[in-house]
Amino acid sequence: MIERISFEDILKIADWWKESGGSSKVEIAALEPTLWKDGDRDICDIVKYLKENGFIVSITTNGSTLSKYSKSIKEAGVDLLRISWHSLDDDVFKDITGGGNQEIVVRGLLKSIELGINVKINRVLLRGYTKDIRDKVGLIDKYKLKIKLLDLYWTPSSNDFYEKYYISPQEVILNELDGFYLEKVDNIEASGRSRVTYRTKNGGVVEYKVKESAEKNHEYCKECKFKDECLEGYGDYFRVFPDSSASLCYLRKDLATYDYSSIFKEETPLRFVLEGRCNFNCGFPGSKTSWCLKQGRGFSFPSRKEVIKIEL
Ligand code: SF4
Repeated sequence: MIERISFEDILKIADWWKESGGSSKVEIAALEPTLWKDGDRDICDIVKYLKENGFIVSITTNGSTLSKYSKSIKEAGVDLLRISWHSLDDDVFKDITGGGNQEIVVRGLLKSIELGINVKINRVLLRGYTKDIRDKVGLIDKYKLKIKLLDLYWTPSSNDFYEKYYISPQEVILNELDGFYLEKVDNIEASGRSRVTYRTKNGGVVEYKVKESAEKNHEYCKECKFKDECLEGYGDYFRVFPDSSASLCYLRKDLATYDYSSIFKEETPLRFVLEGRCNFNCGFPGSKTSWCLKQGRGFSFPSRKEVIKIEL
C-alpha cells in the first residue's frame, strides 16, 4: 500500500512547528508532491493552510503535472516553485527520468513563469551529460530564473555507478560555462551547506552547495558507515515522511523517529515528503539503476525497464 501523510497530520505538525519556534521555511518536496491527495484535498490546500499560518512555502516538483496545478498553486500563495529538470535533450530527459515527457514539463514551466510564480530549476549533474548546461543557463538568463546545480547524491543502490557519473558543479561551471557572464555575489544567509551564487547578465541566478561543507559532527555521524559518501549534513532538513516519521538524515531510515521534539532544531527548514510514490524514476542513462535519494525507503517508483531500450 502506498503511504501518504494525512492532511490532519500535516496541520498538526505545522502547528507544533510554529508553536515550537521552528524556521518559517517549509519545503514540500519529492517524491512527487502533486500526486498527493487526502479525500478531496490536494497540495493547494496544504499551501493555503501554511501560508495562512505565516510560513514561507516552497514546492519541489518534477513538473509533469504543472499544466494542471500551477494556477491553483499560485492562487494558494506559493513562494517558490522548484522544478527538477535534468536535461534539455528530449531523449536524455526521457532516459534519465525513466520515461518522462520533456515537452509536458516545459509547458508547465512556461505556464508557471507566465503566471508570475517564482521559479527555480534543480539540475542534477551527470558526467557526460552536461553539454546542454550552457543553453540551459541561457534560458535562466533570458527568463531571469534561478538554477541550482546539484551534486549527484550517493545512495547504497547507486554506488556502482557513482564514480563514473559524479561531476562537481565547479567542474561543470569551469568547462561548460567558460566565457558566460557570471558575477559572483555574496551568499544569502541559509541553513545547511554553504552556497556559491552567481548572477547572470540579465538577472538570472546560478548556484550550488559546497559538498565539503556538509556538517557531520553529530554523534550518529561519527560512527556512521556512510560518513564518507553521504552528501547532506546531519540536520540540513527536518524531513517528515509519508508515515509521519521524521529524520535529520536523508540516508538512514533507522534514524527516523516519531518523537519530533528529540530532533527539533529551530534553524532547520521543515521539509514534507507527502507522498510515497513518484511518476518518474530518475536514474543513470541506459541503466535500470535509479539515483533518486529516496530509494531504499520502501517507496513506490515506476520501473526503469523501458528506459534501457533507448539507443543513444
Ligand atoms: S548518513 Fe546521516 S548519520 Fe551518516 S554521516 Fe550522513 S548525515 Fe550523518
